[in-house]
Amino acid sequence: SDSARTNFIRQIIQDDLASGKHAAIRTRFPPEPNGYLHIGHAKSIVLNFGVAQDFGGTCNLRFDDTNPHKENLEFVESIKADVRWLGYAWGERVYFASDYFERLYGFAEELIQQGLAYVCDLDAEETRAYRGTLTEPGRDSPYRDRTVEQNLDLFRRMRAGEFPDGARTLRAKIDMASPNINLRDPVLYRIRHGVIHHQTGSEWCLYPTYDYTHPISDALEGITHSLCTLEFEDHRPLYDWVVARVSVPCRPRQIEFSRLNLEYTVMSKRLLTQLVEEGIVEGWDDPRMPTLAGLRRRGFTPEAVREFCARIGVTKADNLVEMGVLESAIRDDLDNSAPRAMAVLHPLRVVLTNLPPDAPSTITAQNHPKHAHMGTREVPFGAELCIDRSDFEEEPPKGFKRLVPGGEVRLRNAYVIRCDEVIKDGAGEVIELRCSVDPDTLGKNPEGRKVKGVIHWVSAQHGVRAEVRLYDRLFSTPQPGSGGSDFRDDLNPDSLRTLTGCLLEPGLAAAMPGARFQFEREGYFVKDGDSTLERPLFNRAVTLRDTWGQ
Ligand code: ATP
Ligand code: MG
Ligand code: MG
Repeated sequence: SDSARTNFIRQIIQDDLASGKHAAIRTRFPPEPNGYLHIGHAKSIVLNFGVAQDFGGTCNLRFDDTNPHKENLEFVESIKADVRWLGYAWGERVYFASDYFERLYGFAEELIQQGLAYVCDLDAEETRAYRGTLTEPGRDSPYRDRTVEQNLDLFRRMRAGEFPDGARTLRAKIDMASPNINLRDPVLYRIRHGVIHHQTGSEWCLYPTYDYTHPISDALEGITHSLCTLEFEDHRPLYDWVVARVSVPCRPRQIEFSRLNLEYTVMSKRLLTQLVEEGIVEGWDDPRMPTLAGLRRRGFTPEAVREFCARIGVTKADNLVEMGVLESAIRDDLDNSAPRAMAVLHPLRVVLTNLPPDAPSTITAQNHPKHAHMGTREVPFGAELCIDRSDFEEEPPKGFKRLVPGGEVRLRNAYVIRCDEVIKDGAGEVIELRCSVDPDTLGKNPEGRKVKGVIHWVSAQHGVRAEVRLYDRLFSTPQPGSGGSDFRDDLNPDSLRTLTGCLLEPGLAAAMPGARFQFEREGYFVKDGDSTLERPLFNRAVTLRDTWGQ
């Protein structure tokens, strides 16, 4: 289980509970609803909800919705669905940072009253110039010494909508010479007219910044451990500054961990949005996307995503995880849980010329080689079959163990057959094989010889035509866009291969969307939600073996 694998954050929490610092813990997962969740978010979800679960605490789902122009309700709903899909529950209600807009505003007036915040008339560019650099201290804003009365008056008029976008900001009065740039009088509020916020509509034209909103939201919810990624380490002094100076009920502790980076994909929502909006992928749930919706459509299970998160662990070390780690998590899961089935991706017709009249019309096949409890099924059998083109070679390479002219192979769960005749079309392409069965090989080995190869097949008469999509990595380089190039230059042109005219054993046509199978010898596949009875669609989740680096 996830809890069997501890990490430095779990250790801190355990110590805080043991010492009595906290009687119970409360964490939160705070996505901004400006895109769909991706596998990096899963790391944060599994951590935040996982520790709450394992230590008898609570985890809040809180939408960090302070940038209304990039956010919408579709994203809110997709995030809720994805968190639920991963297997977590968030208590009676969902939280929104916008729930606190009125209180955040009140705390800002508190800061002004204490002389700790001021209204600044510098525009964005000037503010940046005054801020200084890593090696150069900033300079005080000329508006820094406004009186409390002036500041209160201006701030109230900002709220009343008297000033246009960008005309004024509210800034914390901290230290323009601080070596930490985040403490150089950070902006707390900006003016944004004309946006309709998905929660608060047009009530506000003044929006608080993340650095101001986040610590106060945490404190108002009684968060004990505020877990975030390492790039916020430098923001921690500001986080602490804010909660220490407004009248909130508690002081949460921010702890940082390294974000997940995964090879051959991108995780920034800005870039994922670009892939969707430019039609480079088919949507947020395109199976090539690293989004949870994409992984789900790819056939991933919530268990596999959680197991992946457990395997990568939680540390402060920056790293780049190999795609093979994600794929082995789903492969291990499906190897154990997915029923087996037969599907021929590149059909080649086989006619059995001497099938005995008493040959069975169905063959009994085990649904899982290791789990008898998963039962058996009846697979239609007959004199006309299809096998995969790659299982026959007229001029076989050395060591080829499948069907060759004059050679023998076993049909999975059925007879040993021998290829007697190869039929070609006018262009010389093999279109059919005439084969004879050894009638004495159903469920037993042939007399006096060994037949090594076993191939899968589908009854040509009963099989169901289907479309199968084979996915490969979306990018052809481990770190797309690294080295300053456009990340789109690194797209893999062969990331999707669509096979039409595949032949499935008929039972697969009735499978529910989302049902996962091992297609024997081919890989793990999931029934796509766009399937119809007439046109089943399957997506390959992962190959049978790790093919990365080959
Ligand atoms: P982006 O920069 O792509 O917009 P973000 O971090 O701003 O990502 P949020 O919606 O704010 O996206 O993220 C919600 C939570 O998920 C945050 O607490 C964040 O730390 C965490 N998170 C986001 N990406 C990752 C990642 N790659 N690895 C671990 N945690 C992540
Ligand atoms: Mg963001
Ligand atoms: Mg964020």
